[in-house]
Amino acid sequence: MDFRPASSVLNLRELKLELALSLLEQAGYPLPPRAEAASAVLLQSVIDGLCDLSLRDALTGLANRRHFRAVLEREIDRVARTGESALLLILDIDHFKRINDTHGHEAGDQVIQAVGRRLAECVRPMDTVARYGGEEFAIVLPNCQPTFGLVVAERMRAAIQGLPVKLRSGQNAHLTVSVGGAFAPQWVRSSVSLWMERADLQLYCAKSEGRNRVCLEQTPVSSVTAEEKGMLFGVGTASEAEAAADE
Ligand code: GH3
Ligand code: MG
Ligand code: MG
Repeated sequence: MDFRPASSVLNLRELKLELALSLLEQAGYPLPPRAEAASAVLLQSVIDGLCDLSLRDALTGLANRRHFRAVLEREIDRVARTGESALLLILDIDHFKRINDTHGHEAGDQVIQAVGRRLAECVRPMDTVARYGGEEFAIVLPNCQPTFGLVVAERMRAAIQGLPVKLRSGQNAHLTVSVGGAFAPQWVRSSVSLWMERADLQLYCAKSEGRNRVCLEQTPVSSVTAEEKGMLFGVGTASEAEAAADE
C-alpha cells in the first residue's frame, strides 16, 4: 500500500464522490465547504462520515448488527484474557406486530425509536446498545458481575414497561419487552454466534414463560468455605480462616 501524502497522489476532482457526499448530507453529517477545504481534509471527513454511517442503524442511530458483532468479538477476547465478566442481553418488544396492525407502520417505527432512546439512557458509557433486528435490541455490558446481572436486566425491562410512548396520532402505546441474557465464559475463547445463541435461548424462555420478563442463563456458582479459604491463604486458626472468608 502506498502511504505517500494524499496531496501528492490524488486530485479530488478525479474521484467520484457525489454519491458519498449526498449520502452524508442527507444523514446530516457536517462536511467542510468543498471550495475551501484542502482535499485531504475533505476526503478524511468523507471517510469518517461513511465509517460512522456504516456502523449505525438508520432508524434509531444505535449501533447496527455489524458494529455490535465487532464489539462482541472484542469483548470475548477481553474476557478470555482477563477473566472479567461481561453480560449480553437481547431484548425483544412483546406483541409488536399488534402495534403495527393497530396503529400503522409509522407508529411502529416511532415505538422502536422510543425504546432505543430509553435503553441508551439506561446504560453506562462503556456499554453498547444495538438495534439487532426489526424490533429486537442487544446490549453488551462489560465488567458486569454475575451477581448484578438480574438487577441490571430487570432495570431495563422495567424502564420499557414504564415508558410512555405518545404516538403522532395522539394515542398512547403501552409496551413491554422480554429479555434474555448470558455471560461470556471467563478464561475461555467463545464465539460471537455461540454467545448470541445462548442469550437468544433465554429470550425464547422469557417469551414462552409469558413475556415481559427476564431469563438469564445460570452461571456456575463457585463458593469457597471458610475452611477452604483458610487453607488457600495458609491461615492457622479457625477464627483467622473465618476472618479471611469475610474479607
Ligand atoms: P413476540 O411477542 O413473540 O415477539 O411477537 P411480535 O409480534 O413482537 O413478533 P413478530 O416476529 O410476530 O412480529 C414482529 C414484527 O415487527 C413483524 C414486522 O413486520 C415488524 N417489523 C420489523 N421491522 C420493523 C420496522 O423497522 N418497523 C416497523 N414498524 N415494523 C417492523
Ligand atoms: Mg417481538
Ligand atoms: Mg422479534
